[in-house]
Amino acid sequence: MKAAVYQGNHKFTIEEVPDPIPGPGQIQIDISYAGVCGTDVHGFQYDKVPPGSILGHEFSGVVSALGEGVTKWKKGDRIVGGGGTHPQGILPDAFTMPRFNFRTDGFDNTRWDATPQPEGYAEKYVMEEWAPLPTPDNVSDLEAALCEPAANAMRTIRRSRMKTGDTVAILGAGPIGLFCLQIARASGASKVFVVEPSALRAKAAEELGADEIIDPTKDDPVERLVALTGGFGPHIVLECAAAPLTLQQALESVRRHGRVVLIALSWDSVMVSPIDWVSMEIELITTLGALDVDFQATLALMSSGRITMEPLISESQVQPLENIQSVFEDLIKPDNRVQAVFKP
Ligand SMILES: [Zn+2]
Repeated sequence: MKAAVYQGNHKFTIEEVPDPIPGPGQIQIDISYAGVCGTDVHGFQYDKVPPGSILGHEFSGVVSALGEGVTKWKKGDRIVGGGGTHPQGILPDAFTMPRFNFRTDGFDNTRWDATPQPEGYAEKYVMEEWAPLPTPDNVSDLEAALCEPAANAMRTIRRSRMKTGDTVAILGAGPIGLFCLQIARASGASKVFVVEPSALRAKAAEELGADEIIDPTKDDPVERLVALTGGFGPHIVLECAAAPLTLQQALESVRRHGRVVLIALSWDSVMVSPIDWVSMEIELITTLGALDVDFQATLALMSSGRITMEPLISESQVQPLENIQSVFEDLIKPDNRVQAVFKP
């Protein structure tokens, strides 16, 4: 099969590799679409991916072969590449290792998602039969490929313990920020404000119903967010940007006893100034990845139309896998696109 193999030193090559064969209790998938995660981009940008890896954990596909003893699926079934309920005792190490560190352990695939290499930037993939979810009839394969990042946003909102009527600010309107916007609105936020400098991403946030979009190159986001909430600050601030100033801005703008959720993975150290917010008894919550409950809730919202992929990606923007090198080089400059998806 065809696969995009990371060679190290910021280089992908397209290669012919052996088809993965499903063992007992496993299924083989023909990959329909594979989305690019921010973590894949970081792995490329900072050269953290082990050479020889095939990345891509956001995908949809069609069951193409069954291993011995598989009863749950038949050939031709459409699947979301994750979200199945883990058998008891099997959880990704990211959720169970007491000291899991994404910087040092995040690209060791056996630890990150409990599935073997290779992954979705290829024509085929093998997974345990319990691991995927069936794609609902009214969810397209392209939409299904983005269930994983949307599930990360679902987990972010759930970890924020947002209540109906809360005001929410989202710093950064990349894919995760745009999914957080939709899930916060579906969960009853009274207002959702978005801080985003890129015009392309701001437009997507507007289409998805953001109550106000603040351009941090023009306005001070902390001042604006406090003003927009009657001088209090939002109840919840979601840090989805990982820019040098955004964690400090999140902590400074949230209201007294409010909650900041950090989902963005900053690989560089960032400055925070505790004197500006420590007196407000803020809660800082972090989150990484998603569990089965997050995927399943997300897929239900996708199926009912309360999460849409439309402003993020359309069929005409899908790239052939052969373009992987230029797409990744582009993604390091975040202005150029909102979401990237490959079709192998
Ligand atoms: Zn991801």
